Amino acid sequence: MTRRIDHIEPFRVMQLLERAKQLEAEGRTIIHMEIGEPDFPTPPEVIAAAQQQLLSGNQFYTPSTGDPALTRAIADLYQREYGVTIDPERILITPGTSGAFNLLYAVLLDSGERVLLPDPGYPCQRNLVRLAGGEPINIPVDAASNYQLDSARLTAHWDAQTRAAVVISPGNPTGTLIDPTMLSALAIGCQQHGGYLISDEIYHGLTYGCRAQSALAINDRAIVVNGFSKRWAMTGWRVGWIIVPPELIEPCRRVMQNIFIAAPTLSQRVAIAALTATKSCEHMRSAYDERRRFLLETLPALGFDIVIEPQGAFYIYADVHRLTSDSRDFCWRLLEQAGVAITPGEDFGSFRANTHLRFAYATGIAQLREGIDRIRRFIH
Ligand code: PLP
Repeated sequence: MTRRIDHIEPFRVMQLLERAKQLEAEGRTIIHMEIGEPDFPTPPEVIAAAQQQLLSGNQFYTPSTGDPALTRAIADLYQREYGVTIDPERILITPGTSGAFNLLYAVLLDSGERVLLPDPGYPCQRNLVRLAGGEPINIPVDAASNYQLDSARLTAHWDAQTRAAVVISPGNPTGTLIDPTMLSALAIGCQQHGGYLISDEIYHGLTYGCRAQSALAINDRAIVVNGFSKRWAMTGWRVGWIIVPPELIEPCRRVMQNIFIAAPTLSQRVAIAALTATKSCEHMRSAYDERRRFLLETLPALGFDIVIEPQGAFYIYADVHRLTSDSRDFCWRLLEQAGVAITPGEDFGSFRANTHLRFAYATGIAQLREGIDRIRRFIH
């Protein structure tokens, strides 16, 4: 076993989830506000396309960069939604965005090279950087910068070993967006240092009262990663994409051929249908928004401070210092005593993790109401 593996952390919330399942098996009902996975089924148009595709008999490998019809459809999406023209050659289809990050870090990082990440942030990023032999640098961010990296932090942490900085907007666990001016400054900063800005845009399309701007609409050198898991409720289909600057196309293609050969053919073909499933997506988005507003109205009175209103994804990152100084213990007691599962801050980093936790609202409004009632009783 490699020494790298010693530094790969498990998702701690999985232990909580396992315990929740155990309690369910014992007959208790648990309100799940810990899972960051859409509760909606894959849109019906997508299922219909899958049925047709299965019958076509064509389940062979696609080119490793992806089905050309899908890369073209994604280029059209960028034209339509962000007004940017992308050469489909720069788009590679990957097994989920997770596959895109594996590929990217394998291409970008030599041993010990650094990637700047926000803390709190999506935990797999740190682990994927480590798996590729790199070193994740977790940079504390707070509400003052919308929980996003800014150019002052970039300059303070960038050194000769640094290759890239990652932006996740809308963010996980915070649901907050980066301001386009800040995004532009970060992209320019990375470019001036001779590195890359990596923009994880997996929660684009899930924004409320505003629109997220793609890094590619701001800076043509940005690397953009996105996928079908969240906006299109297609987690299990495992299909995502990455858009890279021209010099990375050939190295990415070579690594892609070796580690994945190609993303799943069926999923790629149905993803083309997903790109036109706008009605289903809007219906999911408005349901998330209703849930978000419900939680924003009810949580503060219970002692959960929401310092900055989340405008995207399906997460609320709350400051619980008025209720506890040990959010892990709080989450475990809440699960055992009240049957409500939420994720402690420690899953997302170490900065003020003990006084924060994440609510996910990828669960129906009736369950959320029940969850809030239970939390109220638990606290009082
Ligand atoms: N990026 C972020 C910020 C996420 O929250 C997730 C999943 O929760 C992913 C990437 C991975 O998504 P997938 O591999 O399903 O495309």
